[in-house]
Amino acid sequence: MRLPPALPPALLPALLTGFLVIPLVPNTVSADPVAPPAPAVRDFGNGPERNEVAADVPERAEARTAAQSEQPGILSHERGYPRRTRLPVPPENPADASIKLGLVPHHGIAPRLNDLQQRGDRVSAQVVGRSYGGRDLYLVTVTAPESAAETREQERIRERIENDPAAAARDRKLVRTYKAPVFVNANIHGNEWEGTDAALRVIEELATSKDPGIADLLARTRLYFNITANPDGRVSGVRQNGAGFDLNRDFVTASQPEVRAMRQIMIDAQPVTVIDLHGYVNGTLIEPTTPPHGANYEYDLFIQNAYANGLGMEAAVNGLGYTAEKDGVYPAQIPFRDSAEGWDDWPPIFTPQYAPFHGAVATHTVEIPLRVNGSDYTQQPVEELRRRSAINTDVAAAAIRATYNFVRDRHDRLIADQIEVFRRGAAGEPSKAVPLGIVPGFGPEDVYTTTFPRAYVITGRRSEAAAARLVDHLIANDVRVERARQAFRADGRTYPAGSYVVDMRQPKRGLANVMLEAGADISPRVDAMYDISGWSHGLLWGAGVDAVTSLRVRADPVKAAAPTGSVPRTPGALALKVADAKDVLALNDLLAQGTAVTWADGAAIVPAAARPAARAVAERYGVAFSPAGTPAGTSAGTPLSRVRIAAAASADELFTLRELGFAVTPVSTAALNAGYDWSGTDVLFVSSGLSYTALNPAARAALDAFLSTGGVITRGGTGAAFNAAAGLLTATAVAGRGDANGVVRVRSAGGPAGGPVSGQVGGGSPDHSFVYSPRWFIGLGPEVTVEQSYAAEGPLVSGHWRPDADGSGGQDAARGQAAVVSGRDERGAAVVLFGTEPMFRNHPKGLFPQVARALYWASSVTGAAVKG
Ligand SMILES: [Zn+2]
Repeated sequence: MRLPPALPPALLPALLTGFLVIPLVPNTVSADPVAPPAPAVRDFGNGPERNEVAADVPERAEARTAAQSEQPGILSHERGYPRRTRLPVPPENPADASIKLGLVPHHGIAPRLNDLQQRGDRVSAQVVGRSYGGRDLYLVTVTAPESAAETREQERIRERIENDPAAAARDRKLVRTYKAPVFVNANIHGNEWEGTDAALRVIEELATSKDPGIADLLARTRLYFNITANPDGRVSGVRQNGAGFDLNRDFVTASQPEVRAMRQIMIDAQPVTVIDLHGYVNGTLIEPTTPPHGANYEYDLFIQNAYANGLGMEAAVNGLGYTAEKDGVYPAQIPFRDSAEGWDDWPPIFTPQYAPFHGAVATHTVEIPLRVNGSDYTQQPVEELRRRSAINTDVAAAAIRATYNFVRDRHDRLIADQIEVFRRGAAGEPSKAVPLGIVPGFGPEDVYTTTFPRAYVITGRRSEAAAARLVDHLIANDVRVERARQAFRADGRTYPAGSYVVDMRQPKRGLANVMLEAGADISPRVDAMYDISGWSHGLLWGAGVDAVTSLRVRADPVKAAAPTGSVPRTPGALALKVADAKDVLALNDLLAQGTAVTWADGAAIVPAAARPAARAVAERYGVAFSPAGTPAGTSAGTPLSRVRIAAAASADELFTLRELGFAVTPVSTAALNAGYDWSGTDVLFVSSGLSYTALNPAARAALDAFLSTGGVITRGGTGAAFNAAAGLLTATAVAGRGDANGVVRVRSAGGPAGGPVSGQVGGGSPDHSFVYSPRWFIGLGPEVTVEQSYAAEGPLVSGHWRPDADGSGGQDAARGQAAVVSGRDERGAAVVLFGTEPMFRNHPKGLFPQVARALYWASSVTGAAVKG
């Protein structure tokens, strides 16, 4: 289910000890089968802070520099169907969590698919990628046999629908020839298992059916099944993948390999309809959703199709005959029809809210009814669990069958509507306000629109490396990007040759806009949101991004961003400004090689002797060195070595710190109480799972000794509590509303003249930051420097931030307040406190260097990093 990634604090100790492999999911929604149906609306209130899970994620060697655009196409168009690919079978794993439920373990999937491929000519299976934990991801295509020529013809039509939609719309033969693609995505949450088993059941039915209706279906459609989107989570019985990420939050960022595989399936297959199988909500929850609705969809087309398929799935699920009295199964519910708000399709972080940008015109989360995860998994008898799982599998299979029947019955219209989505984009038509009553119950509260600019211009004025990253990300998402041949003017500004241009007259302009636009502050319109309400690659990824109203430029399409690395010819020492995550990677690489580097005012200084090493990392990471120069009075800086971090942090923060090339050891209250050797640590990072007051006397004494020479970075409520309890900086943290989140305007500044630090942590940061459960700092002592403050206007640019019921904790209270502060405490510890969320779900790439600068500064001023 789409629960927020927060766990009740009571569960933390068990999780931190690491012996639990059992899913721990809060039960805010999942009703016991005998309880009355739970509403789809949940209340964040001021519950546990998000991400309060110290996930001890195993470090995995990965190519850190691989551009996300490197994912090749998944579907070959040179061979017909079936393909009869022999899938490798993984070793048997008796500990697979599926087994207890009587469901197929991950190692059992490949044998089943190998068998199904032999039982007729309708099923083709392939491996489309690997999970973070290295497990195969299986895509199954079910369709009537095709010759290679027929497959090429299908691809030619698909390509025409996307790239020449106006002509495709006029071609009356097209819908007679084209097989409508349908995508069934299963088990994206690892401990919501049965979608996988239902998919396998339906594939078997389709493979062996003698029903002429099925033959007709397979002649007119291609059905794609992602058998388990999250094999790591399936095997270990947890929601997240092996990196601790909720994959159904990752679609705008695509930090995880499983999500990049799903993205590529959607791009290559271009489905008209998508269902994403989850659990557990009783009665079965079937989208479409409540408001707010994403403003970048062609919602008039979407809601008509999605509501129709929702009603069809509801009828099929209720038609199974399960009852509340007999089985504990309540009638299905459709949030769009049955709830006021709280189950929205605003952020495109979920599968069904991302797929429409690739042409899907009916997409659905389906939540099957009977809970088998969490405490039920451990406490219910096996027979009861298996009874529930059998019913859940029936429900998921009914939803799949209803969906393919819907696509068969509405075949021509779905294709025509997909063409219309791309046609509006290519023509650059304005956002359409959906007519009220377009489907029953569609009211003013459902109307959301946006304004598409003529184009976006992406420049390297802040960082060439950041611009390149954003361009590669857009291309990986199948957004068209061009590069200006000459300098050009737009909206009164001059842009240099080589600037990137995203012409918004393109088929997937909705996706381009949802990533590049600032977004909207929807606080006034909605009381409660399901998950995040703000994101923005345009504002948070560190590139210069401008929306422009006119476009006159000669530009060439690009397949990848141009190389950005450089080293000046001028002899002498080199400076590397830490302005982008790639700068951090390059610097950490140099430090790992043992290069003698110093840290001075937010930049790394590399001696002339290390020029070859600098040239190598410039090329490897695309970073630009500049001449260090030695103006009079400038210090040569403090020696720096690789920063070793002890981190009591959430999974996304651990992932991000490691991705940046830092040496990270996860710690927790329990780990410190068990005796922790601080000699290998330069900086302690605290945001989750560490309480100073819960440390035993020995652990506290060891930590206090570390604090006389080490650095401390904290984030959020747990971090602020640690700062107070450990007596670090004189600063009182004030909490904003717990569910407030989004993009905020910030001011970064150097410290006061003559102050103890130069404000090098905040200095050079983007003008925007990201918050979730925001905090700010008041009552600052003389040792404290404000690195960054919330702007006096807003500060929310996009997202949702209302005051608490008593009027406190709102945006107005945060205006002008300190968001990030630094200082040396009296023991000597170098401390930085973040009230923002600079590493949230690995999304705000432009904020990562701020964290890195905090780490370099803290380790260099204390001399901690010199010890090692
Ligand atoms: Zn789920």
